[in-house]
Amino acid sequence: MDKQKLLKLAENPNHILGIYNYCNRWCERCTFTSKCLNYKMGEEHSDDSEANDINNKKFWDQLTEMFKITLELLYEDAEKMGIDLNAIDTKEIEKTEKVLQQKTDKHICATESYKYVYMVKKWFEAYPEISKSKQDELIQQAELEITSTDSVKEIEKIKDLIEVIHWYQFQIHVKAKRAIHGMLDNFSDDDDSDYPNDSDGSAKVALIGIDDSIAAWGELMNIFRSQENEILNILVHLERLRKTIEKTFPKARAFKRPGFDD
Ligand code: SF4
Repeated sequence: MDKQKLLKLAENPNHILGIYNYCNRWCERCTFTSKCLNYKMGEEHSDDSEANDINNKKFWDQLTEMFKITLELLYEDAEKMGIDLNAIDTKEIEKTEKVLQQKTDKHICATESYKYVYMVKKWFEAYPEISKSKQDELIQQAELEITSTDSVKEIEKIKDLIEVIHWYQFQIHVKAKRAIHGMLDNFSDDDDSDYPNDSDGSAKVALIGIDDSIAAWGELMNIFRSQENEILNILVHLERLRKTIEKTFPKARAFKRPGFDD
């Protein structure tokens, strides 16, 4: 994509400004694809398997090209605003950023959401065994002709629930960290300002990921009864994390995500 094409896409009045900043990035399941600039930009190469393959040179060439265009536009906009980006003291910024990153990593929302990533990983390491016993059970039911249609539906449902859990497994941590980072960075800003805060938006996305994950785990627990204790342990952890994020970002739930909450 060249600069002119990108600018033309950005001019489309049907697009919702910044919708992609607070979504869950699950474009496959999104109802706003026609209103999303980010989606449209990706669409250009959607049929090009090489451009979508992270192991292919074309993918990285495309990313480099996008980086150059973005940087070019950034410098142009900064100049219009009277900002000289070359005059920025990058060493000082790097130093501040390092401290900020360390504080972010140690925050309870970051450590606990990271812990969740590993709890999920651990549960799924044991999943082949768990799944095998469930499959044996379903096969047995099918052989006895008890509920063959329900068995197929149940297998599909399990797949769907697992997809939801995996989708949010890392995203909750990433969004929680972004929220903390922003909060610490703006520590001295006016907290009572009416201006929507990016930290609250990121925290809201993390919370939505937690809500959906809790629902998915709850359904999995009903399916895999033998896993009740293990899943309950994960659910308790998620619920604690949900409360901690809500307490840290009391305005997050009320944050209006462009498009989704309008
Ligand atoms: S708003 Fe929807 S289409 Fe756009 S990036 Fe997010 S999930 Fe994808």
